[in-house]
Amino acid sequence: MPEITALPARKDNYIWLIRQHGEAGVVVVDPGEALPIHRAVRSESLVPAAILITHHHYDHVEGVAELVERYATPVYGPAGESIPLLTHPLREGDRVELAAVGICFQVLDIPGHTAGHIGYYGHGSLFCGDTLFGAGCGGIFDGTAQQLFHSLRKIAALPASTLIYCAHEYTVQNLGFAATVEPHNHAITQRRERAVRLRAKGGPTVPSTLAEEQRTNPFLRCREPDVIDAASRFAGCRLDSAEEVFVVLRHWKDSLDRQQPG
Ligand code: ZN
Ligand code: FE
Repeated sequence: MPEITALPARKDNYIWLIRQHGEAGVVVVDPGEALPIHRAVRSESLVPAAILITHHHYDHVEGVAELVERYATPVYGPAGESIPLLTHPLREGDRVELAAVGICFQVLDIPGHTAGHIGYYGHGSLFCGDTLFGAGCGGIFDGTAQQLFHSLRKIAALPASTLIYCAHEYTVQNLGFAATVEPHNHAITQRRERAVRLRAKGGPTVPSTLAEEQRTNPFLRCREPDVIDAASRFAGCRLDSAEEVFVVLRHWKDSLDRQQPG
């Protein structure tokens, strides 16, 4: 199993470093800035071997140019989006084989947050960018809520033990919304207490497991009677498909996020 570490970056992003224990070669996922990577490379004598990009947003790609200039690293990313210095355009079914670092991923198309968003699945782990978050999911930018619903269903079909490596530390806020939707779900209450403790110590709440998301993430729970009831109350009419429930939950969370300052 490769060793995976989080580099906190920007306001609340994580850049993921993937390498084999004791080896210098390292794969960098979603470098939204270069400085934290330069520091890690210097202090641990690493050699960046590849950059993997999930989608085109600046907080995932702004470090690419500097890394390529300094380390001449190949850049893997979605074929359907404009990614700086992309050398390996990828789509569903493609494989990323990085033999030199002993790492292999399968590419999943998971649009919705953006129209061309991809994920990297392998070694029991999913690097899902801004598609699925701890207890939440990405907002809709240039994709659609319907696309995101189907992308989350695709993720939900992976093994329950899959480790979910998302690109932002949003878990505590997301669990606040999850508790609003399902006030009687104890798994949500317990996860929230644990997440608050972790954050107080400055640690990441990511990765989670898919099983934990299934228990606590409202966006993966659109078939649960309590979630259907809550979304129906918010919508003011009875919702009868999981997709409708998902779309209403996304609107509901957006309306609360807009009320928050900043
Ligand atoms: Zn994004
Ligand atoms: Fe982002």
